[in-house]
Amino acid sequence: MNIGFEPLWILSGKIHLSNLYKPSNLIGVSMSDERHIPGPPSELADTLNHWRQLFQIEHKHDFEALKVLTSSEQPIFSFYVDFADIDADDLLSLRFNEYPEETVQQANEVLRSMSSEYTDVRCVLRPLNFPDQKIKNVSELRMRNRGELVSLVVKVNDVGPRLGYLKRALYTCMACGHRVEVPQRIARERKRPSGPCKVCLEDAESALGEQIPYTLYRRLDMLMQLTAEGSFYQDIQYLNVVDVQGNSEQPIQIIVDDEYVDAHKPGDIIRINGVVYIDPIPERNFIKDTRRVLQVRALSIEQVS
Ligand SMILES: [Zn+2]
Repeated sequence: MNIGFEPLWILSGKIHLSNLYKPSNLIGVSMSDERHIPGPPSELADTLNHWRQLFQIEHKHDFEALKVLTSSEQPIFSFYVDFADIDADDLLSLRFNEYPEETVQQANEVLRSMSSEYTDVRCVLRPLNFPDQKIKNVSELRMRNRGELVSLVVKVNDVGPRLGYLKRALYTCMACGHRVEVPQRIARERKRPSGPCKVCLEDAESALGEQIPYTLYRRLDMLMQLTAEGSFYQDIQYLNVVDVQGNSEQPIQIIVDDEYVDAHKPGDIIRINGVVYIDPIPERNFIKDTRRVLQVRALSIEQVS
């Protein structure tokens, strides 16, 4: 379901529901292959609560381990969650299977707020032990599988260079200092906040009445400027892999991030649990080239040999 609203993540790490859904009719049409966090705000709040409950019940030991860690010793903590535990919760199962990436992002937000009282180590949710029905061959993946959870047993052919991408852009209002984080996608045009600074907009609306002139709206919108300090860059890397079984030599690109960057070498046999992605063809000649290639964004990786 795509209801055409853009989420905003507020700097404090908490999510203010009043800011989550704003009409995006005044900003440019976003790329049609973007997915949005769906559902009414109550459903989002429920998802966050269900993650919190799962972590509290099943992962006490992880929080105990986190208490004695600092980011200078270990910057990232892999938070392994069993697929069966997610599946046992009806809401999480539905959300994770239908909107895997968004649901994992929401889990990471919950982990961020739960662990912040103990440590500055960043937790990254790694769902493991995908059921066998998720196992697919590289050669059988098609565009229609986009957004699906899959598990691939593959051999690494090549490891690309270490890259980074702007995962969360911080925008600051030049007039009042209000700050907003805007999540970004890999290899896409950077997204701006879905409207002007809400503090300045409310001020203008209460001074001038409900409908402010469009020119003023645009001017307020331009006040939101990208702030490099405080924006979050994530390490990523592309792996080219082929099916470990079968005779198809056609490779597929895997996007790995954080602790999986520089963790693999050609010849490794790994099981990748991830989400099917589609991406513009690299080095395309036309800005709006409609061709796409399939990729898999790794949510977790298990060593097979
Ligand atoms: Zn402002």
